Amino acid sequence: MSKINKILVANRGEIALRIMRSAREMGIQTVAVFSEADRQSLHVRYADEAICIGPPPSSESYLRIEKIIAAAKQTNADAIHPGYGFLSENEDFAKAVEDAGLIFIGPSAAAIELMGSKLAAKAAVAKFNVPLVPGTAEPITDLSEAKQIASAIGYPVLIKASAGGGGKGMRVVDSESQFEEQMERAISEAKSAFGDGSVFIEKYVTSPRHIEFQIFGDKLGNVVHLFERECSIQRRHQKVVEEAPSSVLTPAKRKQMGEAAINVAKACGYYGAGTVEFILDEKLNFYFLEMNTRLQVEHPVTEEITGLDLVQCQIKVAQGEPLPFKQEDLQINGHAIEIRVYAEDPANNFLPDIGTLTTYKRPQGHGIRVDDGFEQGMSIPFYYDPMIAKMICHAETREAAIEKMIRAIHEYEITGLETTLGFCLFVMKHEAFRTGKFDTKFVENFFRPALLKEHTSSTEAMLAAALATTLTNKAKSAAEAVPTTQPSRWKKNRV
Ligand code: ADP
Ligand code: ADP
Ligand code: MG
Repeated sequence: MSKINKILVANRGEIALRIMRSAREMGIQTVAVFSEADRQSLHVRYADEAICIGPPPSSESYLRIEKIIAAAKQTNADAIHPGYGFLSENEDFAKAVEDAGLIFIGPSAAAIELMGSKLAAKAAVAKFNVPLVPGTAEPITDLSEAKQIASAIGYPVLIKASAGGGGKGMRVVDSESQFEEQMERAISEAKSAFGDGSVFIEKYVTSPRHIEFQIFGDKLGNVVHLFERECSIQRRHQKVVEEAPSSVLTPAKRKQMGEAAINVAKACGYYGAGTVEFILDEKLNFYFLEMNTRLQVEHPVTEEITGLDLVQCQIKVAQGEPLPFKQEDLQINGHAIEIRVYAEDPANNFLPDIGTLTTYKRPQGHGIRVDDGFEQGMSIPFYYDPMIAKMICHAETREAAIEKMIRAIHEYEITGLETTLGFCLFVMKHEAFRTGKFDTKFVENFFRPALLKEHTSSTEAMLAAALATTLTNKAKSAAEAVPTTQPSRWKKNRV
């Protein structure tokens, strides 16, 4: 075992802070790295030491492996935590960290590499009898061959980038007439986003739910799962509301999917925290989508229902310690929901709305956790992901967690830019969400930005839309909870 004394966090914002807090509790020193745009940011102030690694664009700072390793050497750090995004799923980075004699707080470079290719991952897990979405096993380049495969699979199909991530490089094709155009787009998007134009074809599962399992392994070969997260509320194939547990899984299905997730981890000799993503169809058949070889944005909902600190578990595993729990020790306590508060305008197709947080007040109270990286008066830099915060509510039941979230959203004060807060309130109040009868098309099916544009304040309009939708349903109690007059703070929002 090799005790870690000082961790360099190769990330920024809320996740950098979240990691440093857990390290500090373990008596571990912390080093921040930052770009010139982040000089005043909270993660820099929080860390014991901080090193500037370059200009604002991430390609010149947070993505520069050699600068990060040099910062670790300069500060005598003995381990690096990559957070999520940036270099977290880059096998060259994991290798460079270990080659420099440092501990990478994450899985092996080989596991990252294998799971980084959706196609290679599918091939590897198929040997462990994990069910796959019907589709091609190899990258497709020839158009006529691709069309033949698509008709054999049956429309709708999904063209996907093998190197994909963050919802990019994915195209749904409803019929053969659109195929050529969509394939060209998918290839060019994959090339520009990932530098690799390999695409493949999958059956597009209609009315799917995104259910993922948190898994954890140690370097001694033990692997467990920490139950599922439901992440079906998405825009642009990217999550915006997550919860644990999922309201659709029976204990038997949970067990079956949990075992499949553990098999995925075994297929790549996994250690550390990882997530196995599945798609679930209406008949509760599940299919492997991909594995994310890092800590996930939405990991707090798992922490809330298990009572574990996943970053501390990651650090222990990286030190070579055995997992501090066995599968039978783990249980689900209550229900947790996370909303992602992005600087985005839901009324304008969820496009980023960068600006300054002229008012920023977090809600408080029992069962509410806010993970953020900003304070009032700070600006959201345009160079990076526009997430302001994640808010997690934990309660005994799903219903109570929803009510807590509604209360908390009302008390969250953000002005100066548009955010996803009002949209998340719309979700919490929507009959389909409340009854658990939704799929990944929630936004497309129920959310209508056109309706909002007719109104002056987007948030007010969203509340009105939520009210209208709710009232058409029988859910009297839900409807009564919707305010007919808006809290005055909404009016302060920039329009
Ligand atoms: P999660 O499953 O953890 O929610 P997301 O898909 O939302 O994952 O991505 C988490 C973060 O990582 C986001 O900031 C996203 O922009 C970034 N990200 C994910 N995949 C990639 C990728 N392949 N390249 C660059 N950034 C990525
Ligand atoms: P990424 O690497 O971008 O996260 P994923 O393969 O995890 O890509 O897919 C992201 C999202 O796209 C899923 O959560 C789901 O909503 C949708 N999706 C992916 N594959 C399918 C499929 N075969 N059928 C229907 N929806 C899919
Ligand atoms: Mg995914």
